[in-house]
Amino acid sequence: MLFIVATTTTLGAFAVHRQWLLRQDLEQRFERTRAEVLEGLRQSLAAPTWALNVGILRTGLESTLIHPEVTEACVFSPDRQEVYAEVHRAAVPGRAAASGTLPCATDNGHDVLANVTIYPPDDIDPERRKQAIGHAVIRFTRDNMHQTLHAAMAQGVTEVAAIDVALVLLLTFGLRMVFSPLEHLRGALFELASSHGDHLDELDQLGRTEFDSVIDGFNLVLRRLKLIIAQRTEAERRARAAIQSSHHAFAQIQATQAELVEKNRQLEVLSKTDQLTGVFNRRHLNETLGSALACARGDGSPFSIILIDVDRFKSVNDTHGHQAGDQVLVEMAGRILETKRATDTLGRWGGEEFLLICAGTGLRDAVLFAQALRHALSERDFSVTGRMTASLGVACVQDGDTIHGLISRADEALYRSKRRGRNRVEYAGDDPPAMPGEAPRGH
Ligand code: GH3
Ligand code: MG
Ligand code: MG
Repeated sequence: MLFIVATTTTLGAFAVHRQWLLRQDLEQRFERTRAEVLEGLRQSLAAPTWALNVGILRTGLESTLIHPEVTEACVFSPDRQEVYAEVHRAAVPGRAAASGTLPCATDNGHDVLANVTIYPPDDIDPERRKQAIGHAVIRFTRDNMHQTLHAAMAQGVTEVAAIDVALVLLLTFGLRMVFSPLEHLRGALFELASSHGDHLDELDQLGRTEFDSVIDGFNLVLRRLKLIIAQRTEAERRARAAIQSSHHAFAQIQATQAELVEKNRQLEVLSKTDQLTGVFNRRHLNETLGSALACARGDGSPFSIILIDVDRFKSVNDTHGHQAGDQVLVEMAGRILETKRATDTLGRWGGEEFLLICAGTGLRDAVLFAQALRHALSERDFSVTGRMTASLGVACVQDGDTIHGLISRADEALYRSKRRGRNRVEYAGDDPPAMPGEAPRGH
């Protein structure tokens, strides 16, 4: 609408300007015509008027009517009382009403009167040549000019109106042609924006070249989008599958790891456990002895060991069989475990021999405990064999001791127990501690 108003205003301004130029041109032509007519009349009427030849006068006046601007012309006597000749256009409005009056006498407001005083020709006596022989009056009209101007104005207005109508039609249909596909496209874009990628329909061609290329572009983007969505969906599916399988693999790894930890724990237990009796094996006893020796060297904390050997065990195997012997070993280990203190470490040293490492225990306390243990082992029947006894050898750690030295001293004490009748406790050392209930002994 703004465009139409602007166009109309511009065209109107052009039309007014063209009108003004035309008016200027017509005015100039009118003035030129008037000057030409008056000059021509002045020259052509001088001689005939002098001769008073009315016919020639009339012919001269009629020649002015070839100009459409001239409506009438007349020649008066010098005193303006007599009309020598007059001509006027047949269709001059108002002339009929004015008949009887002096022609060319009034000005109707629109016409222009031009007066020419006529003098005799130059070859006449100079005195008489100064006396006017008549007056020519010519009436000019601007009607033709006004008609031309009105026609031009009407044409201008018609042109502007035609252009406006054409513009309105052009804009109406043009905008419809533009906005209809745009609306089509906008709807598709909104649908695309609110879609989750499940309904992506391509647009149909509209049969309008400019927009079909846009629709082609839209459909191209849509196809590309579909491809990207399909690729993304596939990638997501694969990623989910990979995550699931990695979860599965992770769970499997965790299970395997737990299994390994358990197996390691079992291996560790097995590596330090005696298979038959379930107490520690010789390897672990050696490690524990090594640690205890290191502590004793470090802070001087004492510890003692007790070697326990089942008495006459071979006869069990011989009498009841090997399995019965195993059963005795198992029961023997169980009884020592029941009796030992929490800080003592029990292991099978080999065959039917057990070793008890008594942490933080000096020789006297170790011997006392060994006696209590010997008593506990001997006072109850074993399941297959009935009463069984054991001999014990005690040794306490010394400065500069080694595992081998310590074990050897305990073994010597054990050997003494065997030699002295079995079911006894002997200890390594020159100064025997006072032992309640045990006879003092030496080597
Ligand atoms: P002592 O009173 O002097 O110790 O006599 P002993 O018979 O107990 O000792 P000896 O060294 O003569 O015999 C030990 C026997 O222990 C010999 C061996 O066959 C048996 N033995 C060793 N290890 C095992 C075992 O794991 N199971 C069984 N059943 N017997 C074993
Ligand atoms: Mg033995
Ligand atoms: Mg024995």
